[in-house]
Amino acid sequence: MPKLFDCHMHSTHSCDATASFDELCESALKYGLRGICVTDHADFDPIDPGHKFHDYDAYMADVDRCRKKYGSRLIIKTGVEVTYQTEFVDDIRRFLSTHKFDYVLGSVHLIDHVFVLDPKYPEGKTKKEAYEPYWQETLAMVESGLFEHIGHFDYIKSMRREDYGEFKPEAWMPQITRILEKIVASDAILEVNTSALRKNHLEPYPGWEILKRYKDLGGTHVVLGSDAHSPYRVALGFKEVAAQLKRLGLTICEDEIFPRSMISQLAT
Ligand SMILES: [Zn+2]
Ligand SMILES: [Zn+2]
Repeated sequence: MPKLFDCHMHSTHSCDATASFDELCESALKYGLRGICVTDHADFDPIDPGHKFHDYDAYMADVDRCRKKYGSRLIIKTGVEVTYQTEFVDDIRRFLSTHKFDYVLGSVHLIDHVFVLDPKYPEGKTKKEAYEPYWQETLAMVESGLFEHIGHFDYIKSMRREDYGEFKPEAWMPQITRILEKIVASDAILEVNTSALRKNHLEPYPGWEILKRYKDLGGTHVVLGSDAHSPYRVALGFKEVAAQLKRLGLTICEDEIFPRSMISQLAT
């Protein structure tokens, strides 16, 4: 197996993670990774526990320190996972134009100020009322042009609501296809996030049907991320998922994909 990058993980610079930078680096070495990108959260909604938690200078100090400590044994890229909400798009744009990262991942976590995996989110909603706004917000995120990497595309499939039944991508294929077309047209790249495997799914985010559609629409590359919030989740399921991606004909990006000059364009 080629040496891989884990492009999505959280350190104690995220309010919901327990891993120190050093522990993440040690795990990466143990799993034989070529490099990592620690993507601590940047959240803009005041109701989000992560709001104003991101400390860019402290994060960069850890990156510098670990680059010195691990040297050529591990490539460490700088990154961030931005919670996209259309309502805060101006704040997000300002943040990205004033903070430099190698890698910027956009993710939808909240709809109407409620975390979509919170059991409260689907309360009083039909299945369509729960799913539709998530696809709309994901489309808006892609159309904002702020992100070259799109995080855990079908995250909503982990919504806790028994009576909706199992998530079936076919049921939402028109919405999904529209978003994927925009991703491909804008040269953005889908993330394949293996954290779904620890939430009782047999497939990553997004699942194989969606990845097949992405490929059919002209998508060629993906980035791989574990979304580890603790050291022992780093590179979770990478071997199996990488093998399946290869069978689908999708190429996993390595460090040379960082970055397209998106952030410097924003800054000018
Ligand atoms: Zn996320
Ligand atoms: Zn994450």
